[in-house]
Amino acid sequence: MIPTAATRTFALLGDPVVHSLSPVMQNAAFLDARLDAVYVALRCSSTSVGELVTGLARAGGGGNVTLPHKAAIITLLERRTDAVLRSGVCNTFWLEDGKICGDNTDVVGFGAAADALVGSRSGMRTLVIGAGAAARAAILALAAAGAGDVVVLNRSKARADAMITELAKSSTSIRVVPSADLSGEEFDLITNATPLGLGVNDALPLDLRGLRRAGAALDMVYRPGGTPWTQHACSLGIPAADGLEMLLAQGAAAFERWWARPAPVLAMRVALERAARPGPHRHGDAPQNTTT
Ligand code: NDP
Repeated sequence: MIPTAATRTFALLGDPVVHSLSPVMQNAAFLDARLDAVYVALRCSSTSVGELVTGLARAGGGGNVTLPHKAAIITLLERRTDAVLRSGVCNTFWLEDGKICGDNTDVVGFGAAADALVGSRSGMRTLVIGAGAAARAAILALAAAGAGDVVVLNRSKARADAMITELAKSSTSIRVVPSADLSGEEFDLITNATPLGLGVNDALPLDLRGLRRAGAALDMVYRPGGTPWTQHACSLGIPAADGLEMLLAQGAAAFERWWARPAPVLAMRVALERAARPGPHRHGDAPQNTTT
């Protein structure tokens, strides 16, 4: 559909955004749903992200927010979903009843990806690697699914402690403890919520051989053919999945906030898989940024 004067504009706001698959996924959704709208990626600084959110929403559009602005835009929001209030971060915004609204669809996105990999998380003992926005989404989704213990492993202990203190206020049903020494521990599900794996020379988020048992590994990073960490897990016979399913599910949930109708998930999945496929028609030459 060629944009017209009536076309509504949606955007991914962050830095970097150049390798994001969200434009490919959302434009395929808009086309399939016959919506007169376009989705673009705009690299922006912390000083301009607020004006962009406000301008896009007030002009009848909306969008997503990614690194490093997910926490900063919260103060602009006039309505926040429970997921935003609990996590302290927002990845989706739109206008409703004249108010700028925000949600954190990474929470349902993670839930969908975990469902696909391990099914019920009730009572599970889990490990989340990372203490940023993505880790917060994972922990909230685990709490909502009735998981038991969540152990957090993060490079910076101070940041993990701060996140744990904040999340403890809203997620009373979950016990979150920082840990650096995991030797001999057992987990039903281990999640990588760091960017490790995006770079070709990155270390593994965790050598799974150091654990007594690893039930499944969910990597939020996505790479065609699997990430080094999902390949490491598979080589040990551990079921593993990368971040594609989460990317799709958070994008579908964002579509539903913007349009108040079901997302064309099949069209979005096909577009994502086609864009990420290795070869001459690949979306980009660098590793994909699957933050949003
Ligand atoms: P943040 O910047 O908020 O947090 C990054 C986390 O990763 C921090 O805990 C940080 O530790 C840790 N980290 C960063 N670099 C390293 C490193 N070299 N070694 C060890 N730890 C490191 O990012 P987000 O939480 O928003 O996103 C994290 C990743 O999750 C993204 O890069 C993206 O790949 C993925 N993601 C995927 C989604 C999907 O739909 N598939 C959705 C959202 C995110 P420290 O605190 O010490 O700095």
